[in-house]
Amino acid sequence: MKILVLNTGSSSYKSCLYDLSDGALPANAPVPLWQAQLEGTHLKIVVAGKTIEKEINAAPSASIKQMLETIWSGENRVLNSPSEIDMVGHRVVHGGSEYRKSTFITADVKSTIARLADLAPAHNPASLRGIEVVESLLKNVPQMAVFDTAFHSDIPDAAAIYPGPYEWIDQGIRRYGFHGINHEYCAGRAAQILQKDLSSLRLISCHLGNGCSLAAIKNGRSVDTTMGFTPLEGLMMGTRSGSIDPGIILYLLHQGVAATEIDHILNQQSGLKGISGGSGDMREITASIAKGEKRAQLAFDIYAHRLRSYIGAMLASLRGLDALIFTAGVGENSAPLRAAVCEGFAFLGMKIDTTKNENKPVDADIATPDSRIRILVIQAQEDWAIARECFSLQLRAKR
Ligand code: ADP
Repeated sequence: MKILVLNTGSSSYKSCLYDLSDGALPANAPVPLWQAQLEGTHLKIVVAGKTIEKEINAAPSASIKQMLETIWSGENRVLNSPSEIDMVGHRVVHGGSEYRKSTFITADVKSTIARLADLAPAHNPASLRGIEVVESLLKNVPQMAVFDTAFHSDIPDAAAIYPGPYEWIDQGIRRYGFHGINHEYCAGRAAQILQKDLSSLRLISCHLGNGCSLAAIKNGRSVDTTMGFTPLEGLMMGTRSGSIDPGIILYLLHQGVAATEIDHILNQQSGLKGISGGSGDMREITASIAKGEKRAQLAFDIYAHRLRSYIGAMLASLRGLDALIFTAGVGENSAPLRAAVCEGFAFLGMKIDTTKNENKPVDADIATPDSRIRILVIQAQEDWAIARECFSLQLRAKR
């Protein structure tokens, strides 16, 4: 069974083709038959360990089309015809209250995703574009939407409802949470690594990429998370502020700053980038700290402080902790950040093994043997999680 995954970001498209022809799901993520990433006009394709890069100067839909066509045409093709693709899975960021689990894409589902674009203007329209390009290329292939919000749909009301007017609930203003596809994947992977039953574990998953969020996971279910109605709430991020006093927004509005400008400031000009004055990339922050740049150090310190604070909040929602998980770009790669975070919980008996932490861990436990809480570094595998979900849904549909 060949499953194509289209993972739509706010500014990029990532795509993978998995070959699960032997009919059984492997325990761990297999190497995709074909992988591509389209960022702006830059297309990178990886096939059989070989990387091909080229520029595409076309409108977004035409660029996605050209990216997908490399699967079955040109010298690096891996299939003879698009009809060999059995199913396509899409990451859809916002499923609102409508979608609590993955679903086959129909005309109704498409219009709901379009309607929810008000809640995720940078993401949902891009997912729809991907769905429509696939429709044009692969005609009637089954397509499935996997939602980043679905994993959090059981969060208890006390954690999900904002203490504004009660009417907000009917207006759909509530905590949805995001990064659910990867948080859920990490919870399952943590159980595998720890050789424990997922239903016995209390986990905090720290997804630290360009966007950052925590999930408190009990018995395999999300019981609290830091992103909210939008992906702006919670932790400090690469270019996003995370939570700030809402009074600051009112103050800026009263000062005459336009809403669109505030949107731009909070989403693009804040976080690591805003404080450091450089970029929102943790690699640059670390390099600048090494050169003695004070603003980079301040950015790192605020990032770590807020991370520890929110871990504290998740700890209270879980009422205990078996393992803390670091995942995504910063979580997987920044040893100094992991050390700074774990140091804050030494009083609970959390002990990080310095050598393991600094030795580029991948899907590994980096706590000392006597640590009372395990510390895991898990590689984010959103695309594989989507492919797996497609595979399972297809099986259920056949039964
Ligand atoms: P996205 O949220 O877009 O999927 P990623 O999970 O790939 O992003 O994370 C990207 C971020 O990871 C980069 O902006 C950078 O801050 C961070 N990152 C990547 N490699 C490293 C590294 N070696 N050290 C520190 N941070 C890193």
